[in-house]
Amino acid sequence: MIPIRLPAAGRSKEAVLAEMQAARANDLRWHEGRVFSLVFFAGDEAASLLKEAYNLFFSENGLNPTAFPSLRRFETEVVAMSARLLGGDDHVVGNMTSGGTESILMTVLTAREWARAHRPGIHTPEMILPATAHPAFDKAAHYFGVRLVRVPVAPDLRADVAAMQAAITPNTILIVGSAPAYPHGLVDPISELAAVAQAHGLLCHVDACVGGFMLPFVRQLGYPVPDFDFQVPGVTSISADLHKYGYAAKGASVILYRDGALRRHQLFAVTDWAGGIYASPTMGGTRPGGAIAAAWAIMNYLGEEGYRRLAAQVMQATEQIRAGINAIDGLHVLGDPPMSLMAIASDHLNIYEVGDEMGARGWHLDRQQFPPTLHLTLNYAHVHQTDAFLRDLAAATAQVRRPSLRKTLDRLLVALARGAARWLPAGIVSKLTGRVSGLVGGSGGGLPERSAAMYGMMGSLPNRGDLKEVVLDLVEGFTTPPPGR
Ligand SMILES: *Cc1c(COP(=O)(O)O)cnc(C)c1O
Repeated sequence: MIPIRLPAAGRSKEAVLAEMQAARANDLRWHEGRVFSLVFFAGDEAASLLKEAYNLFFSENGLNPTAFPSLRRFETEVVAMSARLLGGDDHVVGNMTSGGTESILMTVLTAREWARAHRPGIHTPEMILPATAHPAFDKAAHYFGVRLVRVPVAPDLRADVAAMQAAITPNTILIVGSAPAYPHGLVDPISELAAVAQAHGLLCHVDACVGGFMLPFVRQLGYPVPDFDFQVPGVTSISADLHKYGYAAKGASVILYRDGALRRHQLFAVTDWAGGIYASPTMGGTRPGGAIAAAWAIMNYLGEEGYRRLAAQVMQATEQIRAGINAIDGLHVLGDPPMSLMAIASDHLNIYEVGDEMGARGWHLDRQQFPPTLHLTLNYAHVHQTDAFLRDLAAATAQVRRPSLRKTLDRLLVALARGAARWLPAGIVSKLTGRVSGLVGGSGGGLPERSAAMYGMMGSLPNRGDLKEVVLDLVEGFTTPPPGR
């Protein structure tokens, strides 16, 4: 436990706020447009509207829909606007949730309950998804006891429909595709997946968490976008995150179902509790009114025209950045992503070293594995950063091409871990990895400044279970003080 307790006496508002401002000193400065995927920003006026709308309903609780008809109306309208945008007809229903993860949890729960009602012979339900689908499905499998069957993607990095079809068993209840999948920004062949699902009497979920409020506008602008929404026969549910390209306040997503009969399996009620009759549509009990209100506000503030304008600017920036990346000797974008997510790869350079060099230049890029890439999610916050980004990326790549002692050391460490993993006991390898990642991570805690060696090792460790323990140790550590504090 960290040596901190509730202060015996309260402190002044000024003192509390001052300390909080100071605490932000080392936070990522997303406002400069150098952080990707964690923050979506539609401009200062939109942000101030979100804050005012959130504040207006700061205290209201979305738990009881009869207490605050305002919130009920906002949620109903947000769901309806989202459903229309995603090709839904009058039968489509849904709910707001706290985020993409909760929307996905709901769809897997609903599939399980649907199967209990309609496929009573199934005792160990299974869902089939491409290797690239979001870990929220692993979480849902873990929470709800549904077996997760991940199928490697095709050479074009999209879902391999034939392989997924071949993975169907009598226990399969749900097939999943993404629009787009996060790692490479590619949209799975949704029409084909949904057709397979329909032919086998299965549910088909489209994870449009990141694309749901972008792809419709990208298509309106005339860019080619594969079919992915309720217009596709066989698609039974869609998740779409308002707090991503909906540019809403955090804590806002929608889960949509083709009809009310399917959504019915999601709902929860207890009738014999001492506290009265209790019903709730989603995971949460108390639900923040502010998040619901802010989502309604931004949708009405931007409208189709506003979202299209933002999408146009983001797509221009995307095209410029894609062309710029492909023009840098040694770098390329994987596949042909239809919107503003992409993965940067290299055939002969260590891409993690490029990530480290970008980090040294103030750009925070996520590292990915299988294959090693850097990830980009471009939103409105980045539209004026394209030149600076490409300049630094060219410089970072040039730097990586030069030989250095550190790079030789990094390569040695990776080779050591790879070699050691073959003959050392698993436990020792994980200690070694932890030790080395601490070593290359530089000055204690926080985000490592140089991580190429660590990512190189993590990607090559054969014992993934062992790696999981190391990662869980890290997660535990986030809420535990560093020694000697
Ligand atoms: C972000 C994302 C999720 C999870 O959403 P959270 O809001 O982070 O819970 C799921 N799927 C995809 C494709 C995503 O990009």
